[in-house]
Amino acid sequence: MWPFKKKETEATVLRKLLSIRMEAIGGQGANSAGKILAEAAVLGMGYAGNHFSSFGSEKRGSPVRSFVRVSTENKPVRTASYIKHPDILVVFHESLLDSHNEITDGATASTELIINSKKDPQNIRLPYGLKLKRVTTIDATTVALKSKCGLNAVMLAAIVEACPEIKKEKLAQTLTSYFSGLSEIVRKNNLDGFEAAFKYIKSHRFSEDQCNREIQTSPLPEMGWINAPIGGVIINPGNSALKDHSASRKGYAPLFTKELCYNCGFCDMVCPDYCFVWDLDPTGAKAPALQGIDYQYCKGCQKCVTVCPVSALTLTLESEIPEESKMHRVFSNLNAENIEKQWKKLSLPTYAEKISKNGDFK
Ligand code: SF4
Ligand code: SF4
Repeated sequence: MWPFKKKETEATVLRKLLSIRMEAIGGQGANSAGKILAEAAVLGMGYAGNHFSSFGSEKRGSPVRSFVRVSTENKPVRTASYIKHPDILVVFHESLLDSHNEITDGATASTELIINSKKDPQNIRLPYGLKLKRVTTIDATTVALKSKCGLNAVMLAAIVEACPEIKKEKLAQTLTSYFSGLSEIVRKNNLDGFEAAFKYIKSHRFSEDQCNREIQTSPLPEMGWINAPIGGVIINPGNSALKDHSASRKGYAPLFTKELCYNCGFCDMVCPDYCFVWDLDPTGAKAPALQGIDYQYCKGCQKCVTVCPVSALTLTLESEIPEESKMHRVFSNLNAENIEKQWKKLSLPTYAEKISKNGDFK
């Protein structure tokens, strides 16, 4: 008999307790992805496990977290709390790294990061001081667009690739049964997207060199009663103070072709965020003409694309929208830097200054 036990490779070592945290925005399907994954693990593989999600206001564009725990030893999993130190951290939208500092909280040297991005994993910029085991990227938005499927089906392929605990066939079966109540074409598209996604997965060992991103701090002074923004609003991207909705988009935005537009105004009637910029036609016509879209407001809901009768608005990958098309700004002066300048003009002390002067907030 061969005297040595076969050495287990890194990829085949099964974790006793597998924990997965997904960070996404409403509408990207992180909640469904968590359900499908847990169902594949429990009903398909016979493990013990659970899943739950955490929402803000349960609407498109707001942050969503989805948590899956799986015990491969089949021990009951009773914890249903936030996963602080995930084995797998999945980020559904790259801009979340810019806008939500807490996304990478709790990641450790044994965490694998999976991120929806066109970039190679070694080119993903991460916050200073972060430790990870591996970085994986997948251009899930493009795959989902090509396959006409949900982003979650594509992201699930990258997750299952990083989890030897869960078999790909079991996940595909669960995916099919999960969508069994929907039309055949929806089922097929999601399964096709899942299968196609494996070709797009790029994985690389984590390097500390890529941790060169400043952790974004609030552009305004710390809030106290004396210097809180009007109405106590939160001014990070995705808020309603700076009207920067770019963090709410799922990766698509409408592209406007002025030559096709005949200024019917249908798009303006359906847009929930007043994104359309109108002006008197420079050719001298009396009626206003549509100039373009103010992308800082646009949350990518596609209502305008559906309603435009002449396809002057088309569904386009956000990354393919030319910079010059993003020039239209209705309130171009309203940005974080200008607000801070205005604040400084008032010469009021910041919250931190108050504390250091008085020892307490008075
Ligand atoms: S719906 Fe289409 S044609 Fe009508 S104003 Fe909007 S972009 Fe132009
Ligand atoms: S996708 Fe169209 S309708 Fe939706 S927010 Fe953007 S511009 Fe408005």
